[in-house]
Amino acid sequence: MAESSRSGDCIFCRIAAGEVPATVVHEDEMVVAFRDVNPQAPPHVLLIPRRHMASLNIVSQGDEAILGHIVRVAVRVAESEGLADRGYRLVANCGPDAGQSVDHVHFHLLGGGGMGWPPG
Ligand code: 5GP
Ligand code: ZN
Repeated sequence: MAESSRSGDCIFCRIAAGEVPATVVHEDEMVVAFRDVNPQAPPHVLLIPRRHMASLNIVSQGDEAILGHIVRVAVRVAESEGLADRGYRLVANCGPDAGQSVDHVHFHLLGGGGMGWPPG
């Protein structure tokens, strides 16, 4: 298992704890999904494990269940956002070259078309 259950100065831990407001679209015992405060697409939802893990680089075998659950929740959120048939992108930025700006593992669910490949 990666790192402690929470990191006091982590914005996503604070959102998961309900200490910082966010527009939550799904939450359960393992995962919270909420709308990105600075959306890059309509819609733009972030999915995070409740438990603090700083980076995909420190994910371990014990994290496989939660990561698999996040993907399944992402598909459910995509369905509820009306994206299932149109398509969507699920992406995780890891490290400086990818532009990771919050050190708590998160997946971006992006929809609405107009997405280029490869991403910039
Ligand atoms: P990254 O750049 O690390 O891949 O993505 C971090 C994302 O978190 C960014 O898209 C940014 O807009 C979003 N974000 C950062 N702080 C907050 C916040 O306090 N609330 C919400 N809803 N999103 C945030
Ligand atoms: Zn955190």
